[in-house]
Amino acid sequence: MARYTEASCRLCRREGEKLFLKGQRCYTGKCAIARRSFAPGQHGQGRKKVSEYGTQLREKQKTKRFYGVLEKQFRKTFERAEHMRGKTGENLLQLLEMRMDNIVYRMGFAGSRSEARQLVTHGHFTVNGHKMDIPSATLKSGDQIEVRESSRKSLKFQELEKRNLPAWLTFDPEALKGSVVQTPGREDVDIEVNETLIVELYSK
Ligand code: SF4
Repeated sequence: MARYTEASCRLCRREGEKLFLKGQRCYTGKCAIARRSFAPGQHGQGRKKVSEYGTQLREKQKTKRFYGVLEKQFRKTFERAEHMRGKTGENLLQLLEMRMDNIVYRMGFAGSRSEARQLVTHGHFTVNGHKMDIPSATLKSGDQIEVRESSRKSLKFQELEKRNLPAWLTFDPEALKGSVVQTPGREDVDIEVNETLIVELYSK
């Protein structure tokens, strides 16, 4: 499975904001954005003028990196969003939010989306009673997510992250299960992104 191999904090520094890629570290003074909030590399502090294309590209890169999705899959998700009813940009964000790995992260099973992806790949969860080990799977309203019986004793699931649960999800930490109550709206997406710029970029 293809994945990012670049240092996570470099990605945040490149985008100039926190993308929360490293779990608890992101909330401490060790966060690279808190210490060096300029782009990495030799010219990191010198880049100033950004073209229209550059601005659109940065919005796309930021969104991709926030959700930990690579270009090919991001593009495919965009194409799916184009064929849905409504605004393409909002559909795109909705599809990204409804990914299995993102939902596992949002429920607090993992400190970061990359950790959530690993937990899913290792087969720790079921969706509607069936094993689900595909991090990119798109869940839907009404789906029930649960830690598999054989994984329940794992220390990982004894000490869960405390996270603000979005209104479109429910979660019961005792029972180690939750559900998708409804599809998330634009107001439920907490990444600061102008999705219109991504649509413009891909429409060129
Ligand atoms: Fe980004 Fe987290 Fe690294 Fe801070 S600690 S730069 S938020 S990955």
